[in-house]
Amino acid sequence: MDMGRFFKSLPILFLGYFIHLAYRNITLHSFLTITTMQSRYFKEEHALFRQSVRQFITREVVPQTEKWETERRIPTAIFRRMGDVGFLGLMYPETYGGTEADFWFSVVFLEELARCGMGGFATAVSVHQFMAINHLYKAGSEELKRKYLVPAIAGKKVAALGISEPNTGSDVSAIRTTAVRSGDYYLVNGTKTFISNGTYGDFITLAVKTSPDEGINGISLLLVELDAPGITRTKLNKMGWHSSDTAEISFDGVSVPVSNLIGTEGSGFYYLMESLQLERLVAGIMAVSGAGVVLEWTLQYLQEREAFGRKIAKFQAIRHTIADVATEVEVAREFVHSTCWKFSEGQNVVKECSMAKLFTSEMQKRVVDTCLQFFGGYGYMEDFPISRAYRDARVGTIAGGTSEIMREIISKIVVDAVDYKKVY
Ligand SMILES: Cc1cc2nc3c(=O)[nH]c(=O)nc-3n(C[C@H](O)[C@H](O)[C@H](O)COP(=O)(O)OP(=O)(O)OC[C@H]3O[C@@H](n4cnc5c(N)ncnc54)[C@H](O)[C@@H]3O)c2cc1C
Repeated sequence: MDMGRFFKSLPILFLGYFIHLAYRNITLHSFLTITTMQSRYFKEEHALFRQSVRQFITREVVPQTEKWETERRIPTAIFRRMGDVGFLGLMYPETYGGTEADFWFSVVFLEELARCGMGGFATAVSVHQFMAINHLYKAGSEELKRKYLVPAIAGKKVAALGISEPNTGSDVSAIRTTAVRSGDYYLVNGTKTFISNGTYGDFITLAVKTSPDEGINGISLLLVELDAPGITRTKLNKMGWHSSDTAEISFDGVSVPVSNLIGTEGSGFYYLMESLQLERLVAGIMAVSGAGVVLEWTLQYLQEREAFGRKIAKFQAIRHTIADVATEVEVAREFVHSTCWKFSEGQNVVKECSMAKLFTSEMQKRVVDTCLQFFGGYGYMEDFPISRAYRDARVGTIAGGTSEIMREIISKIVVDAVDYKKVY
């Protein structure tokens, strides 16, 4: 075992243990079961952490499902709670309040997040930790990290990521939001749309054109406070992910200090492309876990529901379809875990992350649709979580890069032998 890594992950191990103690409802038997669970990637400390996250979500998130879905948002206090127990800084150094645990702790966290059965909540939290503040950590100045990364890891500030615009999403080079330098400030004008955590977020990592004539070399990232004068936020209504807060945000002459530039001017496109790998891997991890939990609900229902005098689990037509579903989920999980391993080893995984996003989001859509069928009419009822899972899964092949764009990237690598370089 890599002892350096083990010691780095000790704070998480103890954190998990104390959460166990706090909740006091774990039996010695289940404690032993989780601590002895082994896999090629997950060690005992990961199993312990998994149990902690699962308990937190079972206690603090799942009971709120109806409320948050109806209100179309989650309270920002839940970020604070997650920050308090150390869930929001898993990849980030202790100096900024993080735990700097190995990547498998993040994998565990995301898998458990997706099991909550509320895609909107899982998205809000994953966008905050793994997408919006990642750029700040990787390329931001020390001053920016102290001012924004530290409170974000503590859950005191909520972060958003602003790339997509009304006229363009897939083609990032076509963004029109501009940031024109004026003394020690940039003046930002433009509109972003579909922005997760957009209405209640405290700050946004914003993709802007600082040199509109220079194509992708004219794109930069700015950190913008979302209550700045000149910003208007409008909540959007969605088909699913109801508990996530998605907004259109317009910027009308918004003044942003030059010191809020993340990294160097003109490098924004490259930062975005690099971080999209993590974003797509995160989507893959959550898609597999989300599909897996739907399979679990379905297996349970098949044992309860009867038709023609038998449990419906006994019908061969259903059993064989379930066998296909279980196979898809397991194969996807193996591929995603192997990609996580390559990612954690610092390998260039543009192809694998694109494949993981493509395959798992399409798979989740198929799996949820197939499983819903076996709930019969109940599957179509709001009271059954599978109807929410069905709505939530639909966006998987769109948000964070569509399936068509994943195929474009994969074909460029496979057919044209394009070699995407690492940026960070
Ligand atoms: C709920 C939700 C949350 C989101 N959260 C965020 C967020 O927090 N921040 C953010 O910046 N964005 C966010 N997005 C935006 C998301 O990433 C974009 O919707 C996505 O990238 C697609 O962009 P688009 O909607 O503009 O579609 P378009 O780019 O207009 O594409 C339309 C269609 O054309 C296809 N297409 C485009 N180009 C090609 C091509 N070269 N070859 C083949 N087909 C092509 C697409 O695949 C798609 O089917 C979110 C979206 C949703 C729905």
